[in-house]
Amino acid sequence: MDFGPNAEQAAFQDSVRRFATSCLNDDLVGRDRAGTFDRSSWERCASFGLQGLPVPREYGGQGADLLTTALAMEALGEGCWDGGLIFSLNAQLWSATMPLVEYGDDKQKDTYLPGMCDGSLIAAHAVTEPEAGSDAMALTTSARLDGDSYVLNGTKQFITNASVADLFIVFATLDRALGWAGLTAFLIPKGTPGLTTSQASDKMGLRTSPLGEVTLTDCRVSVDEVLGAPGAGMAVFEHAMLLERAGIMAAAVGAMQRRLDECVAYTSRRRQFGRPIAGFQAVSHTLADMKVRLEAGRLLARRAAWLADRGELDAMDASVVKLYLSEAYLQSSLDTLQLHGGYGYMAEAGLERDVRDAIGARIYSGTSQMQRTIIADRLLR
Ligand SMILES: Cc1cc2nc3c(=O)[nH]c(=O)nc-3n(C[C@H](O)[C@H](O)[C@H](O)COP(=O)(O)OP(=O)(O)OC[C@H]3O[C@@H](n4cnc5c(N)ncnc54)[C@H](O)[C@@H]3O)c2cc1C
Repeated sequence: MDFGPNAEQAAFQDSVRRFATSCLNDDLVGRDRAGTFDRSSWERCASFGLQGLPVPREYGGQGADLLTTALAMEALGEGCWDGGLIFSLNAQLWSATMPLVEYGDDKQKDTYLPGMCDGSLIAAHAVTEPEAGSDAMALTTSARLDGDSYVLNGTKQFITNASVADLFIVFATLDRALGWAGLTAFLIPKGTPGLTTSQASDKMGLRTSPLGEVTLTDCRVSVDEVLGAPGAGMAVFEHAMLLERAGIMAAAVGAMQRRLDECVAYTSRRRQFGRPIAGFQAVSHTLADMKVRLEAGRLLARRAAWLADRGELDAMDASVVKLYLSEAYLQSSLDTLQLHGGYGYMAEAGLERDVRDAIGARIYSGTSQMQRTIIADRLLR
């Protein structure tokens, strides 16, 4: 097993890191405070090729494997300090782009993937509802066949990219009595009559990533816009969650590397009691713990991508990565803030923003409790 970058991947990582550092970090404190999504940064990422990394070249992508994609996301997380932008990009990549690559028919791929790669289309994945969160299969959004279209009714909440999205992958049930066998995924472009979106009220972190509601009121969708097949929504959903849980935290590895480097430099520079604070064991052991978390998380993220490339990634592996890195990123963000003392508590340092952003990772894509439940279920089968 070799999860390390080869020479070409290492050079690509360098170029992503340089691009991200120089092109994505302007006025981040202001944008975070205002809660604004920066479409121009999104377009710069797309011009660089990030949104289309694992998409086949014939649809405008880069044709990269998933390990190369994960390595690029690590580098993005190291160079880009905008956790919201990274989150929006990864949400689209893993839960909208990849399901389209896997389950879309030729016409659907031709229609949507080139725009999702070149940045002109933003996509959202809409499952969660007011009464269906962790228990996603309790969703009640309905789809009724009427002639050559389905009529959808329901409300989705906490949907990443909702207010800026041009395309929604919406999960609905054909008949609740069928259970998961009634679940169906629909591709619904913005502007479809009956589909409306609204921005969520203020949120704690990931503030540069839009989050909102999607409401469907007698929303008519052609049978041609079913993703996969009627009743095959569970496969689409599980595939999206598998890749998202495996891939969405790769960027956190890069962020943890950057913060560790900063902590080493800061604690070596900052003097108290007549010497650098790094000389105090309580401080240096915190650095050591951050290093261990970083390297364990790096291995898990790369291994998951490597397994996915081989078609061997399973739900337990994906949950292990998601759970470990969510918790590790949060702990290392808290440690970073603590090691910077009062300065770390100030918004301008950008360290409290990491803590706010990191807490989101324990909730989105399945909470940490639900990841533990998935892991335990598979252990106890
Ligand atoms: C930043 C962010 C982005 C998101 N983006 C999207 C998106 O793009 N698309 C989308 O569809 N959804 C999205 N979500 C929604 C997210 O998937 C849900 O918030 C999450 O699955 C939890 O559901 P809930 O909020 O209803 O909490 P609940 O399910 O009500 O859970 C509340 C608490 O109870 C615990 N709990 C519930 N059931 C169990 C159980 N069986 N065992 C143990 N503990 C349990 C949970 O772990 C949690 O701590 C996003 C959420 C956030 C915060």
